[in-house]
Amino acid sequence: MGKIPGMLRREFLWVGGGAALAGKPASVLVHEHVLVDFVGADQIRPGRYDRGEVIRIALPKLEEVRKLGCRRLLECTPNFLGRDPELLARLSDAVGIEIWSNTGLYGAADHKYVPAFARSESAGQLARGWIAETRQAWRPRFIKTGVNRGPLDEIDRKLVRAAAITSRETGLKIASHTGDGAAAVEQLEIVTAERVSLEKLVWVHAQNERDHSMHERVARAGAWVEFDGIGPQTAEFHIECVHFMAAKGLLKRTLLSQDAGWYHVGEPGGGEFRGYAYLYTEFLPRLEPAQVALLMWENPRAAFGA
Ligand SMILES: [Zn+2]
Repeated sequence: MGKIPGMLRREFLWVGGGAALAGKPASVLVHEHVLVDFVGADQIRPGRYDRGEVIRIALPKLEEVRKLGCRRLLECTPNFLGRDPELLARLSDAVGIEIWSNTGLYGAADHKYVPAFARSESAGQLARGWIAETRQAWRPRFIKTGVNRGPLDEIDRKLVRAAAITSRETGLKIASHTGDGAAAVEQLEIVTAERVSLEKLVWVHAQNERDHSMHERVARAGAWVEFDGIGPQTAEFHIECVHFMAAKGLLKRTLLSQDAGWYHVGEPGGGEFRGYAYLYTEFLPRLEPAQVALLMWENPRAAFGA
């Protein structure tokens, strides 16, 4: 993919698009899931699902968005919640979309997905384990963590600190599932205290905070604000968020996605798998083409890497 801005612009406006993309602008989905297992860190183990079945179910959903222009999808299921890099690699090869996986640990949901070792290890010890993972063949491409609502408790603060240390060492960006604006602001302080630039931090699920002044505050501080719950029931608020950020001149710090999917481990046939197409077919047509280019291509690459 060309790095010249003019080239990117042309890809978007389709002054000569590629046949492989069927004339659709190239895009990145920054927060989706292929598979999640909610059983809990103390019970999760390999073999709780059939990879072949997951592929049969997920592949058509991914093919649908490849045809709509999706070139990369960040799969945000953390370790101990069903992260499966081998499954994602097989799907990626089959569909022709890059699927990125992650390192890190998820403290939200009252720490149900935090394994016992992470309760006793220090932030530095946790970070060493995550940094080691980045040298694995499957190569996590971002750090995924998660915290409860603010004020953060000690374990959440430790996970964010570990994420910041990992980011400082590896350059990877931190996508942090965040309960509310207070929790987001507290994370700004932790990341800054670890001497990590705030453009390394992505406030995941910013739509859960209804107070736009918090969105503005976090974006002005330099972090990314991700409105990632787009679906039929939530589209209006997400549109409001985009308009707010645009009015404040902060679309350059804004990301969009759907938090859609996924194969639910433990449910017959994986339960209800919500596809990834809604954003393309219903939501993006409501925005200006230049906004779409920024939000779906330029920003994801600036936030997470080209
Ligand atoms: Zn998610």
